[in-house]
Amino acid sequence: MPIYEYRCQACHRVSSFFFKVASAARAVNCDHCGDAGMERIMSSFSQGRTEADEYRNLDPRYYKMVDDALGKASPGSDPDHYLRQMAPFSAAEKSGDPYFNE
Ligand SMILES: [Zn+2]
Repeated sequence: MPIYEYRCQACHRVSSFFFKVASAARAVNCDHCGDAGMERIMSSFSQGRTEADEYRNLDPRYYKMVDDALGKASPGSDPDHYLRQMAPFSAAEKSGDPYFNE
């Protein structure tokens, strides 16, 4: 769960907020004085993350799905055949893939 930290421009204290998804981040008020003049600061949670880190942190279920598909391939078959059949997450989600109903 993403943690967002804001520094109050009135009392200069830091408040932490939790949002389920990044797009839910919204205007917040200071936990200490209630002032709305909050300035977003980078928390240690998101600091120093590179794009490569993002790829490493892909949903592990995706890797399992790939492994399962490769495991089912009969010997001598082209493993890429299974990879090519996989829809991107966005497309699968739209088509109501049961994978997303877990
Ligand atoms: Zn404040």
